[in-house]
Amino acid sequence: MLDKTSYISILRSFEKGGGNPLKIRVDDVKKKRVDLNEEEPATHYPSLVEMEKAGECSFTAPVRTELSAVWEYDHVRATGQVQSAVRLSCSRCLAEYDLPISSAFTIFYTESAGETLDEEVELSDHELISVPYQGDEIQVDPEIAEQVMMEVPFKPLCSESCLGLCSKCGAELNLGECGCDRSEVNLKMSALQKIVIEK
Ligand SMILES: [Zn+2]
Ligand SMILES: [Zn+2]
Repeated sequence: MLDKTSYISILRSFEKGGGNPLKIRVDDVKKKRVDLNEEEPATHYPSLVEMEKAGECSFTAPVRTELSAVWEYDHVRATGQVQSAVRLSCSRCLAEYDLPISSAFTIFYTESAGETLDEEVELSDHELISVPYQGDEIQVDPEIAEQVMMEVPFKPLCSESCLGLCSKCGAELNLGECGCDRSEVNLKMSALQKIVIEK
C-alpha cells in the first residue's frame, strides 16, 4: 500500500492535463483578486481515482472548491476550502460508513525560476503550504486533490468506541454480545494495562 507522500507524487505526475483544470492566471491575480468556485466529480482528480482504485475509500459527493487568490508582494496567496464526502470501511468492524470532508487551506504560490521543483520541502508543513509555479498560469488541481486526500483517515473508525469484531467468532460486537468467552484475551489486556500503569 502507498503512503500519502507516494500518492502526492503520483498526483503531481498525473495532474498535468485532462478535464477542465482549475487555474489562476498570474496576470489576472496581479491586477485584482481572483475567486474560483467550482464543483468537479472526484474522477476529475487522478489521485483521487487512484485512492478509490486502491480501495481506500469511495467518493459519494463531488469535490467543491471555493478559493480566493490575491497577489502579495512576490507571491500568490490562495485561501479556500474544499468539501466532499467519502464512504469508508471501518478498520475495526469492517462496516461501511460515510464521512463528510471539509478542509480549509492557505497556499502560497511562489514563482520558481529553476527547472527542478523541490516537492519535499513544500509538503513538510501542512498548515502553511508553499508551492512553486512556473509560467503565467498556476494549476490548482494538485493542491485541491491533496487537501481532500489529507482528510481521508488512514485507519477509518466508524466511531471512536467501535467494539470491532469478536476475536473468536467474528461477530460484530456493536450489534450485541455474541456470548463467546474472550477472557483469555481480556486477561492479556489487563496484564498489558498493568504494565503501562506501572511504568
Ligand atoms: Zn467500526
Ligand atoms: Zn464471538
